[in-house]
Amino acid sequence: MKILVPVKRVVDYNVKIRVKPDGSGVELTNIKMSMNPFDEIAVEEALRLKEAGKASEVIAVSVGPAKTDETIRTALAMGADRGIWVKTDEAGIEPLTIAKILKKLVEEEAPGLVILGKQAIDDDCNQTGQMLSALLGWPQATFASKVVVGEGTVDVTREIDGGLQTVSLDLPAVLTTDLRLNEPRYASLPNIMKAKKKPIAEKTPAEWGIDLTPRLVVLSTTEPTSRTAGKKVTSVAELVGDLKQSGVL
Ligand code: AMP
Repeated sequence: MKILVPVKRVVDYNVKIRVKPDGSGVELTNIKMSMNPFDEIAVEEALRLKEAGKASEVIAVSVGPAKTDETIRTALAMGADRGIWVKTDEAGIEPLTIAKILKKLVEEEAPGLVILGKQAIDDDCNQTGQMLSALLGWPQATFASKVVVGEGTVDVTREIDGGLQTVSLDLPAVLTTDLRLNEPRYASLPNIMKAKKKPIAEKTPAEWGIDLTPRLVVLSTTEPTSRTAGKKVTSVAELVGDLKQSGVL
C-alpha cells in the first residue's frame, strides 16, 4: 500500500507574523518557512506504518511556488521515498483547489491512505482533507490521535470535544492528524544527504486543466490588538474599587 502525504510550506511557527502595510496579507519576504507542523506528524505516521510493514511507499506531495521543493526535501530527509511538486506561481491556493489537485494525484498514484494535517497553521482552514474525501468518495477520519491499520481497514481514534472516538474505515481512506498522534523525528545528517538523491517529480495544475482562480477576496488582514499595560494594586480594596470602576464587578 502506498501512502500519500500532502505537506504544505508555511511560515515557521516561531516567526512573529507581520501584516503587510496594505493589509493584503502577511509579509513573506525573507521569512523563515517550514513544513506545516501537522504535516510533519502526517509524514511521521506514514513512516511508522511503513516501518511496521503496513505500507510499501511514502510519497510526499506539495503544491506551491519556488522553494516548495525544500519542504518536500524535508519530508524525504525524514524518510519519505519520493516527492511530487505541483508548481504554482503563487502561494495561498485555496483548499478546494488543493483538494482537486490531490484528487488527480490520488487517481495517478492509487494510494491506500492519504494522511494530511488537520489544518495548515497559516490559513487555519481545516478543509482540505474533508474536501478531498468528498471529491474521492472515500471515508475520512479527521483529528486522528491513533491509527491502526488492519486487513483492508483502518481503526482511527479521533480527538473530539471532551473525549475520544474510535472509528473503523474501509481502505482506501483519508486521515487528518491531530497533535497527539506522534512526535515527529528529526532528520539525521546522513538522511539529509540521502534525501538529495531522492526523486521529486514536477507537475503543474494546468496538466489537469485545474483553474487556480480564488473564490474568495481578502478584504483586510489585521494584527491582534496589543494588550494595554497592567497596573499593580497595593490592596484588595483598591483591586475591588478598580474592578467596579471598569464595570467588571
Ligand atoms: P488546510 O485545509 O488549509 O487547513 O490544510 C489542511 C492540510 O491540507 C494541510 O495540513 C496539508 O496536509 C494539506 N495542504 C493544504 N495546502 C497544501 C499545499 N499547498 N500543498 C500540500 N498540502 C497542502
